[in-house]
Amino acid sequence: MIQAKGYAAQDKSSELAPWNFHRREVGPHDIQIAIRYCGVCHSDLHQIRDDWGGATFPMIPGHEIVGIVTNAGTHVKKVQAGQWVAVGNMVDSCRICDNCRQGLEQYCTTHISFTYNSTEQNGLPTYGGYSNIIVVHEDFVFTVSEKLDMSAVAPLLCAGITVYSPLRHWKVGEGHRLAVLGLGGLGHMAVKFGVAFGAEVTVLSTSPAKEADAKALGAHRFLVTRDAEQMKSAAGYFDFILDTVSADHAFDPYLALLRTNGTHIVLGLPSEPATFRLGNIVFGRKSMAGSLIGGIPETQEMLDYCAGHHIVADVELIDMKNIYVAFDRMVKGDVRYRFVIDMATL
Ligand code: NAP
Ligand code: ZN
Ligand code: ZN
Repeated sequence: MIQAKGYAAQDKSSELAPWNFHRREVGPHDIQIAIRYCGVCHSDLHQIRDDWGGATFPMIPGHEIVGIVTNAGTHVKKVQAGQWVAVGNMVDSCRICDNCRQGLEQYCTTHISFTYNSTEQNGLPTYGGYSNIIVVHEDFVFTVSEKLDMSAVAPLLCAGITVYSPLRHWKVGEGHRLAVLGLGGLGHMAVKFGVAFGAEVTVLSTSPAKEADAKALGAHRFLVTRDAEQMKSAAGYFDFILDTVSADHAFDPYLALLRTNGTHIVLGLPSEPATFRLGNIVFGRKSMAGSLIGGIPETQEMLDYCAGHHIVADVELIDMKNIYVAFDRMVKGDVRYRFVIDMATL
């Protein structure tokens, strides 16, 4: 076993604190990675607080991982020691169900191994990236362009792919009016990709102070959702709304902003069940849809696209010990636009 250290929550009401644990030995197809940066996703906070139920502890969060290969199994061909690599939300899956065969591992119908708060295929618990070392099967490790700023690459592994995948699935691009609801980690990546794909992008935000940032990210328009007049002026306007809001919220005001055949794509995962008036989708043949991260092939495609188009996240680097300062600011909507932990400070 490999001795490792990280920041773990021991139960849903205790704070993250230093914790020593073990990683498995490097198998023939495994890659051992010295973690250098890990992004802070709002899902990390949802899960250590058990917002979604069923959480298992001790829990080490973190699924936006970038680091350097320190050891590779005898059969590993795709990377060498010393190379930068990345790991996202998944570390394994059943590999044989219909979805796994199509590269949609995130929708594995048998046993998906998420990077933390989950189990390996052998049933042992998984531990995430707020740690110094991880050992992952090569099929779930991504290569990254070393031309990019590695701390700013980390958030692509969740925030990036989570918005890239639905934009590709619904073929959002030229001629489409895209609304990005919530300008946080996911939202700011949605603006970058939406603009790169040729859509007209509007940010819908509760924070008027983010307007200049939204425009700097490339957004064409900015709308304050708490301003009734501004909301009224956008009625029936959008083809797509990408909903990245992390807190419980109403849906009806946003369904009113969709044009006929428009689609409201939910990415945010607040804890409470959602309600909305069915008439608000029936009238106008509108759709309410959802999307979960992205599969392994699409995640590599996204990373390659980012390398080709110089797209990375806007990040604020933090020390591990300041994680609760970051969480507090994230909950207040004051994230500009992804906190990333410098793992050298662990
Ligand atoms: P984040 O950085 O905290 O951004 C969320 C944004 O939502 C905030 O910055 C804020 O933007 C807006 N917001 C927050 N509270 C709000 C409220 N009460 N009403 C309206 N808007 C509010 O979070 P994130 O990391 O981007 O994650 C967003 C959500 O997506 C989380 O629930 C997370 O668990 C989920 N998620 C889902 C997937 C998936 O695969 N589907 C993947 C990753 C994360 P404004 O200031 O602009 O209003
Ligand atoms: Zn995430
Ligand atoms: Zn499967």
